[in-house]
Amino acid sequence: MIRQKIVAGNWKMNGSKESISLLINGLLEMEGSNSEVVVAPSFPYLSQVESLISGSAIVLAAQNVSQEVKGAFTGEVSASMLGDFGVKYVLLGHSERRSLYGEIDALVASKVKAVLDFGLVPMLCVGETLAEREAGKTLEVCERQIQAVIDVVGIAAFEGLVIAYEPVWAIGTGLSASAEQAQEVHKAIREFLAQSSESVSQKVQILYGGSVKASTSSALFQMPDVDGALVGGASLDAKEFIAIVKAA
Ligand code: PGA
Repeated sequence: MIRQKIVAGNWKMNGSKESISLLINGLLEMEGSNSEVVVAPSFPYLSQVESLISGSAIVLAAQNVSQEVKGAFTGEVSASMLGDFGVKYVLLGHSERRSLYGEIDALVASKVKAVLDFGLVPMLCVGETLAEREAGKTLEVCERQIQAVIDVVGIAAFEGLVIAYEPVWAIGTGLSASAEQAQEVHKAIREFLAQSSESVSQKVQILYGGSVKASTSSALFQMPDVDGALVGGASLDAKEFIAIVKAA
């Protein structure tokens, strides 16, 4: 099964009008690529990035969304608002949202549902902490996080969803999982999905995230179950990000 690779930049809470314009202009110098290139700016910059990338192959993502559709939810942003700005993907269940903002599995699942209901594509992040890995619970944690979403949206919906395996110990630490470690978990996630649907398990794209750099990305991308990368820090540097895209 050939799955298109995705290379997504999660800019987190970084950037200004000026730096974002420079970064996008840098990315626009990239010639065509085989993979889908995605950028996820903070909410206030979605409109600016939407205009800058218009006519290019770069695709827009958001970093969060409300599980609610509309109404009295001060400070929240709905899936339909994201759709208004040309957003395709929405990052959900990122470990920073889980650990710093108390997003539990059930909330992540309801956000996934809100995104799917509106016709956007959730990028569901899952992954274990260092303590969980050392306790041999890596797969148990990933499966629990995925099962919570299956329970709410059903396995068929995973055809319209991307998974990002992001071991918490690798995020922003400079300590990437090895290509083999990533492959082992990606394969196990696919096997877990296959228990509910073989065809869905073959179709779903599984990205790796956690200290991805140009120097480590080609080994990762050679792994049969690694369908791309979710890149944090290195996505803020146009040259580095383009090098990762080229490796895919
Ligand atoms: P990092 O972040 O590449 O800076 O480790 C990845 C992520 O949090 O998505």
